[in-house]
Amino acid sequence: MKKDCQKSHIETQLIHGAYEPEKTTGATALPLFLSTAFAYQSAEALEAVFAGREAGFVYSRINNPTLDRFERRMNALENGLAAISCASGMAAISATVLGLAGTGDEIVSANSIFGGTYSLFGHTLKRYGVKTNFVNTTDVDAYREAINDLTKLVFIETIGNPKLDVPDIAAIARITSEKGVVLVVDNTVTTPILLQPEALGANIVIHSTSKYINGHGNAIGGIIVDCGNFDWSNKRYAHLDTFYKRFRNFAFVAALRNQICRDIGLCFAPFNAFLMSIGIESLAVRLERHCANAAKVAEFLAGDSRVTATRYPGLTGHPDHEVAVRQFHGRYGGLLTLTLGTKERCFRFINGLKFAQNAANLGDAKTLVIHPASTFCRDLDEQERQAMGVTEDLVRFSIGLEHIGDIVNDIDDSLKQL
Ligand SMILES: *Cc1c(COP(=O)(O)O)cnc(C)c1O
Repeated sequence: MKKDCQKSHIETQLIHGAYEPEKTTGATALPLFLSTAFAYQSAEALEAVFAGREAGFVYSRINNPTLDRFERRMNALENGLAAISCASGMAAISATVLGLAGTGDEIVSANSIFGGTYSLFGHTLKRYGVKTNFVNTTDVDAYREAINDLTKLVFIETIGNPKLDVPDIAAIARITSEKGVVLVVDNTVTTPILLQPEALGANIVIHSTSKYINGHGNAIGGIIVDCGNFDWSNKRYAHLDTFYKRFRNFAFVAALRNQICRDIGLCFAPFNAFLMSIGIESLAVRLERHCANAAKVAEFLAGDSRVTATRYPGLTGHPDHEVAVRQFHGRYGGLLTLTLGTKERCFRFINGLKFAQNAANLGDAKTLVIHPASTFCRDLDEQERQAMGVTEDLVRFSIGLEHIGDIVNDIDDSLKQL
């Protein structure tokens, strides 16, 4: 069966999707299996698992029962075929690229993406002969023009960070589908609560589960979901032929599990999956509050003359507001940015906040604030910064779950002392 728990609503799937109750003990929480290897009754039984004739766990670098259940839940939430967990969001992105592309191949990527991904595509992969063509995130035609015979994947994020621009996923998916190229969508900042990219034509969905999925800022993780809507016999991906012959529709996840993730050792820690299985149960409730609080902060700042500009996809003045309305069903996430004229004013503003923590993370229950130009974007050159919408006077917030009155007061008080 392709889709687990298809009949229930997503709020219910967060809590019940794809977990079988633990039969031997009746444990209601996700059991944590801290075992490196799994023993078998006979040499024949272990041989059968290695040969792929029987399903079974062998070694936790490859799979583990705790990871398996977390993967199944994430897969159900993204309406996928199968999912593979990874050590981090960056590990998930790296594994996906390594599974699709090799030396001489190319990536087409939105240009206003997460700094770590930008660095991976623009710098690290270049050393291994994989070239990335960055295009303006919201310029749909630019994707069409950039795709060529060497292109192995098109990569976009649902909301660029920190630029907060919103690509039209369905329009880009029409192009990738026409060209027979895999569309990879990083859904970290919107989560399946705001958007299931599969419904818009994404082929692979990626998450840094360190952010909203976990929700409490205490563990790093990532996941790759194959949406099951790409034909892996496509000649562009001839390197997957042997996997396709054996695993058909599951060719890509088999290549990831039995080759890329296994050989490179990108495995997710079972304890982190345990923490995230707790976090994920409240994802829908948390996202509702993250979005409501961020919308109120955006509204407050948008009318404030002490702030040069406020950017939030939920504001009607946002250039991609219409796309955001269409894609996110009236909710716009927890990220917003403001500009304050100078770097010095940004630093004074950040230093003057009482609750908001100055940290390089997002999607935590706590409100977080950061000055991108001096932190996670500092290694980028001027042209790259411009593409990513990072100016010296930009401040990014990840709005948390505190009472909205306290968040607004904190911001207001700090603006007063500028
Ligand atoms: C944080 C983040 C990543 C990287 O995830 P890690 O878990 O930190 O490795 C990738 N994409 C986006 C959009 C992110 O916010």
